[in-house]
Amino acid sequence: MIQYRRHREEVLTYSRMLSADGYFGPASGTGGNVSMRVEAEGGDLIVITPSGKVYAELSAADICVARFDGSIIEGNPAPSIETGMHLAVYRNRPDVNAVIHTHQPYASIFALINQPIPPLFDEVTAKIGPVVEIIPHALSGSVELAENVASRLKNGCNCYIIQNHGALAVGLTLQAAYKHSGLLEKTAQAYYQALSTGKEVTVLPDYIVCLLTEQLKSEQQNEIARKMQLSISGKL
Ligand SMILES: [Zn+2]
Repeated sequence: MIQYRRHREEVLTYSRMLSADGYFGPASGTGGNVSMRVEAEGGDLIVITPSGKVYAELSAADICVARFDGSIIEGNPAPSIETGMHLAVYRNRPDVNAVIHTHQPYASIFALINQPIPPLFDEVTAKIGPVVEIIPHALSGSVELAENVASRLKNGCNCYIIQNHGALAVGLTLQAAYKHSGLLEKTAQAYYQALSTGKEVTVLPDYIVCLLTEQLKSEQQNEIARKMQLSISGKL
């Protein structure tokens, strides 16, 4: 409990914030999960919210700490049923150290019409990348859903929409992933309302998108290089 207390409290704090934002469903919904990667001797760990608990009633002791093979180190013995989906992100995106899955309202509209969200706003594109792609639907908690998520991660973006389900935001830190989920909701709301007018919706030109995403790519490459260096020097 003591060793990973800070990480568990951080996951708890952001879970409560997302719950208060209404991103886990109305009132005290449980539609979502939050995790972070922790570097440890012997391999990375995942710190993740438990399965089926009301977020407003969670305590740090409920947050699970597990190895990537699923064995529990600390906390609640029943991690989120979506742990496999979170691990798929960490295994395929070494630049990512935090994953947030939500059922946030406006992004969920695009989960139903299966329409990716193009680059629309400078500040959103700079943080989440050129596109919010749709991940094909599969049953919650299934291996197939984890595989579907893994299949879309190579675009290097920080937000995705899961068909007929919800949203996924990732980041270098939990703070960044939380910011990305908010930016996704802003752009989803504006895009939905713009589409509803029936008028043409303009998107950012390609050269602007390239300029805006340069820093994002650089941050991701720096994080990957840092992890490779740690691995080479035997610190992990
Ligand atoms: Zn869900």
